[in-house]
Amino acid sequence: MRNKIAVGVLGATGVVGQNYLRLLANHPWFEIKDLAASSRSAGTTYEQAVGERWLMDTSMPEEFKNIPVRDVTDYASIPDDVKLFFSATELGDKQATRDFEFAYASKGYPVVSNSSANRWTEDVPMVIPEINGDHLEILKSQQKNRKFPDSGFVAVKPNCSVQSYLVAIHALREAGYPVKEILVNTLQALSGAGYRGLTSPDMQDTVNPLIPGEEEKTEREPSKILGEMIEGEIALDQFIKISALCTRVPVIDGHTALVYLNFAEKVPSIEKIKEIWSTFSAEPQAMQLPSAPQPPILVMEADDRPQVKLDVDNGKGMAVTIGRLEKDKFFDIRFVALSHNTVRGAAGGAILTAELLVGKGYIRS
Ligand code: NAP
Repeated sequence: MRNKIAVGVLGATGVVGQNYLRLLANHPWFEIKDLAASSRSAGTTYEQAVGERWLMDTSMPEEFKNIPVRDVTDYASIPDDVKLFFSATELGDKQATRDFEFAYASKGYPVVSNSSANRWTEDVPMVIPEINGDHLEILKSQQKNRKFPDSGFVAVKPNCSVQSYLVAIHALREAGYPVKEILVNTLQALSGAGYRGLTSPDMQDTVNPLIPGEEEKTEREPSKILGEMIEGEIALDQFIKISALCTRVPVIDGHTALVYLNFAEKVPSIEKIKEIWSTFSAEPQAMQLPSAPQPPILVMEADDRPQVKLDVDNGKGMAVTIGRLEKDKFFDIRFVALSHNTVRGAAGGAILTAELLVGKGYIRS
């Protein structure tokens, strides 16, 4: 790409926002030109707004320190050159967040959002680029239905826990081994609860057996992601049944999923499954998108892997790492899968979605 696309980050001061800054510094296609957060942060420089709240392992990139923070609802101050927004914020309730994301789209901006507010809006695609890039086709209807300029739309990412295992399920289905039932227990990192999760003493040194709303998202969202495009609409997948139990554990980054499943028909051998996963490749890999992990699924043979400490950054935080693949007593198979929740599950996954949108011509430079 000759000229980089100028982008803005909404919710730039939070945990996901900070990850956007870390991942977009030196990105080959995108360049941050606008940072926005709540009215509490607006009017200061980014460095002042974040203050002691910078939580990344690497230091704050110099080039962002002096960018003035805009209030996310101050549309009049959006810099002229910005062509795309990543959103990592919520405004009060879900309806206010939906309206706010669509307000940007109505002004001609593509918005790739991490919020759950628009995930079930019918004409909004919920995308994992390795699975359902074809759902982007619905953006044309969204623009038509809502009378948006042809550059404006909202596309969203699914919940962060889903990313740890759904690409693997999709790979099996693509290889001719559809899955019928899944039991999944998630062990989710503190950073998944944002700044509060990483800093609140109540969340340290304990296992919290409930993450409000998470189990419903984990059970429901795959039906939209695995759905089929039929006559320009997303028909939900009614085939896979999922039962989820989601817990918060004291690790910083990395959602682990303990997965048990039954196949619908044929049961592949363990060796066959390993071969399917190790050789799986999809549209982002074929298009050589800058953030696409090569390969997207890593299969580990050692009994003590995947481990958050050793494997969370595999594929620069974009790969799914799987181990402990075994036959189970009650299900056909079981395995342990890990992905980085704030990279693959949030900022990195949204950046890969935006790269796919550019690659397919939905965002023009
Ligand atoms: P966070 O650390 O709490 O950050 C929240 C961000 O939103 C901050 O920039 C904050 O700005 C801004 N904000 C808060 N209230 C606002 C308001 N009323 N109006 C405008 N801006 C407001 O949260 P996070 O973990 O980064 O999560 C951000 C979004 O990503 C959420 O929708 C979350 O569900 C989603 N998500 C998170 C993860 C994860 O792993 N953390 C994964 C997937 C999706 P100030 O600093 O000015 O308050």
